[in-house]
Amino acid sequence: MKNKTYDAIMAGGGVMGCATAYYLMLADPTLKVAIIEMDATYEKNSTVLSDANTRLQFNIKENIQISQYALEKLATFDDDMEVDGIKAKIAFKQEGNLFLSDFENAENAKAGLTTQQSLGCDVKWLSPDEILAGYPLLSVDGIAGATFGALDGTMDPHAVLMGFKNKAIDLGAEFIEAEVREITHDSGQVTGVKLISGEKLFSNYVLNSAGGWAKKLAKTTGIELPIDPVMRQVFIVEIEEKIEREFPFLFFPSGIYISQEHGNRFMCGKSFDDDPIGFDFVTNRRTFEERMWEDLVGHIPAFDRLKYIGAWAGLYAVNTFDGNAILGEYPTMKGLMLANGFSGHGFQQCHAVGRYLAELIRGVSPVLDLGIFSPQRILDNKPVFEGHGKLV
Ligand SMILES: Cc1cc2nc3c(=O)[nH]c(=O)nc-3n(C[C@H](O)[C@H](O)[C@H](O)COP(=O)(O)OP(=O)(O)OC[C@H]3O[C@@H](n4cnc5c(N)ncnc54)[C@H](O)[C@@H]3O)c2cc1C
Repeated sequence: MKNKTYDAIMAGGGVMGCATAYYLMLADPTLKVAIIEMDATYEKNSTVLSDANTRLQFNIKENIQISQYALEKLATFDDDMEVDGIKAKIAFKQEGNLFLSDFENAENAKAGLTTQQSLGCDVKWLSPDEILAGYPLLSVDGIAGATFGALDGTMDPHAVLMGFKNKAIDLGAEFIEAEVREITHDSGQVTGVKLISGEKLFSNYVLNSAGGWAKKLAKTTGIELPIDPVMRQVFIVEIEEKIEREFPFLFFPSGIYISQEHGNRFMCGKSFDDDPIGFDFVTNRRTFEERMWEDLVGHIPAFDRLKYIGAWAGLYAVNTFDGNAILGEYPTMKGLMLANGFSGHGFQQCHAVGRYLAELIRGVSPVLDLGIFSPQRILDNKPVFEGHGKLV
């Protein structure tokens, strides 16, 4: 019978669990690390249902640095994750992200741009005329300008997840398909996990990497995390208009985003305040038709005639406290490590977060200090907002 004691257990085998396991094994292949995933088909996993966009365009210095590290790693990811001659093939397409700004938010956008540029990021401001010169199909009515990050882009999220997972296993991590019923603990110290089967696995470190299910899992230790699973929909549409020049990933002031998949086919979405909280994955075409379409036509008139292709839905793990990641050991529970509450921008953060959590578990100084995202800030009631008191 296998020894059921591990140096660290990842409770949740999405991109956070697998990236952290990878960084642990990479640093020390003698470690015993388990990744526990309740559904190895990943049907409802947020990583594979995400838009898989990465951007340097954040306001908080640490979020920008997290993305800078992502770009560094993505450049060699296919090769780094090679196992038995098979490369990861993440198809990273750096089409750039264009954030259009209305007059009300232009100053905020420029402040963010200043921080990004001070850190050496390739992001610039475009005037309405420059936007039109590059993308004549866009309307610039009410637009003050836009920030353009040429290195931002999208990739295949499933390939990234499989890359981390397969490489972590290749380096010696154990992948277990099972559901964690509870994180066990004794006198303020984590002791391991109990599975639905009743089986117990032991470790002084358990990472809550359960994505949208993180709050439920944390509750088993009596800890209440300010995280809601919120359903977000992604719609696929096709327009008739011939597109002379490929669009970057576009973000409009109303919150709508669109990404050109190929040819005339687009992926688009928007977060609504009344998106359902819970484990709902049923899409509703009317959300697109009644709440997004007209808005979209205002930004790109060519969307007036389109074909609705389909939709999917996944979960954002929304941090209702300040909209940013919650990272590191929970102050009142030794060994309970958190990688939670990414609020829709976690996919791109897996590289720096995985490395950071692995460093904390190994007790070494982090290369990039992400202490700003410690759960202590929740207990101290000191939120860390991306933009001026708003959740973005
Ligand atoms: C529609 C949509 C678009 C998005 N677009 C982007 C984007 O463009 N860029 C970006 O950076 N981010 C984006 N995100 C956010 C991103 O997907 C997440 O932040 C990130 O993937 C979170 O990874 P995770 O490992 O924490 O969670 P997940 O990938 O959900 O993994 C958690 C895993 O834990 C497992 N699990 C849960 N409970 C248990 C348990 N008790 N026992 C065992 N296993 C358990 C689940 O089955 C799941 O596989 C988007 C999300 C959605 C839904």
